[in-house]
Amino acid sequence: MIASSHIHIIGGGLAGSLLSLHLADLGHTVEVFEKRRDLRSASAPGGRSINLAISARGLAALERIGMADDILSITIPMRGRMIHDLDGSTHLQPYSSNPDQFIRSVSRADLNRKLLEASAQYPGIELHFKVNAESVDLHSRTPSYSRSLENGGTESFSASQKPDVIFGADGAGSVLRRAMVEQANLSVDTSFLEHGYRELTIHPNLDGSPKLPIEALHIWPRGGFMLIALPNMDHSFTCTLFMPHSGSVSFEALDRPDAVDSFFQNQFPDVWTLLEGLSEQFSANPTGHLGTVRCPFWNYGGEACLLGDAAHAVVPFFGQGMNCAFEDCTVLRQLLDDLPESWHTALSDFSANRVADAYAIADMAISNYIEMRDLVNDGEYKLRRLLGFELEKRFPDRFIPGYSLVSFHTIPYSEAKARAEEQERLLRDLTAGKKEISEIDWLLAEKLVDQSMPANPR
Ligand SMILES: Cc1cc2nc3c(=O)[nH]c(=O)nc-3n(C[C@H](O)[C@H](O)[C@H](O)COP(=O)(O)OP(=O)(O)OC[C@H]3O[C@@H](n4cnc5c(N)ncnc54)[C@H](O)[C@@H]3O)c2cc1C
Repeated sequence: MIASSHIHIIGGGLAGSLLSLHLADLGHTVEVFEKRRDLRSASAPGGRSINLAISARGLAALERIGMADDILSITIPMRGRMIHDLDGSTHLQPYSSNPDQFIRSVSRADLNRKLLEASAQYPGIELHFKVNAESVDLHSRTPSYSRSLENGGTESFSASQKPDVIFGADGAGSVLRRAMVEQANLSVDTSFLEHGYRELTIHPNLDGSPKLPIEALHIWPRGGFMLIALPNMDHSFTCTLFMPHSGSVSFEALDRPDAVDSFFQNQFPDVWTLLEGLSEQFSANPTGHLGTVRCPFWNYGGEACLLGDAAHAVVPFFGQGMNCAFEDCTVLRQLLDDLPESWHTALSDFSANRVADAYAIADMAISNYIEMRDLVNDGEYKLRRLLGFELEKRFPDRFIPGYSLVSFHTIPYSEAKARAEEQERLLRDLTAGKKEISEIDWLLAEKLVDQSMPANPR
């Protein structure tokens, strides 16, 4: 059994703050080092995305630490995708045939703030803000920290105690991962999409009412690019435009206010009228990059370990990056609850357990981008989707659509991916040459489901 240890967590974002609660709950002392200012004492700083979709895996992780109800109270249900066509017509595609299954929108800053509030109250957790991990010497297990000063300078910062274990929850540009690459022969594959993103806000009406239906994730799919909008508690919406960095239709091409204005007027006429101060917003906000980090091991000798985006940044199109980071905490907690003999055993099992799942959700997230921007309005795709829901109703123990496996179940991502691929083959076979659901051969469907779908995913 692991003795009570002193832990350093680099990064007090979503994964780091949740992890601190789990480790303190197990009797370890924890210091969290966060380079940004304390979210609890200041108005929320601009993050990479202002709101996030949380689903089963994220909620299960919060439930495990007794915080699910508290967090649910600051979420907005999104029951389906509301598709906005170029002519202004809309239709809602529910996320599931089961009306109780939907995803939720939550403010990244409010979620992080609540987790930090819980950490701050927990005995054994010490939070340090405006403290940056500059580097980590893995051989001596020594991180070097600096603190930002009010005058803009920095000074070196000493932790209360040397760590027994260091966790890197420091996001996609992780300093701990860099140390593992430089000092432990870790080879990491980082690939960037040719698409980036930029955020814009739709404010509520003057009477406080929302300008779009609130309980939906809105999508304006336009082939090579798309706009999405998620609701906020104050009835505003955070819109995100995803498009190529360069080329004829790109961020690079939108280099003047009139170009931005006419692009939105032509491509998103219904939302163009809702976006106040569009060109000012557009030029004030930066363009973010979207990348995938594939890292083949996360544990360094039971003394240092990566998790969250530091271990597996994924593109955001399945809404799973944070859900996956939270699930990391659940999986690690389960392994620690099983009373392993050492940190080395626990962390090497964690890494061995989880890498394949992280790779699986990385692949699925890229496929979902194509689905969201290109396929949601495609007739064959819509028929396959409808059939998927129908098969789920008829064979609920055997057929669960891929989106639901990821968002409403907690089976490992790698199993969800394998099942979803098998189901997609089946849907393609059953819909080949068909236009309507009434043309489906249900006897054949039953036979194929019976043959190829194992029962009872969790
Ligand atoms: C546009 C966009 C939309 C997204 N939408 C969703 C969604 O809908 N659903 C979903 O589940 N996920 C979504 N994600 C992914 C999600 O944001 C990430 O997966 C999640 O934030 C990962 O949490 P993390 O704590 O591992 O990393 P981060 O959130 O990046 O947190 C890392 C923390 O470490 C700190 N830090 C970094 N370096 C240092 C250092 N050297 N020293 C000290 N502190 C440091 C940072 O300040 C930060 O607070 C989206 C991402 C993007 C870009």
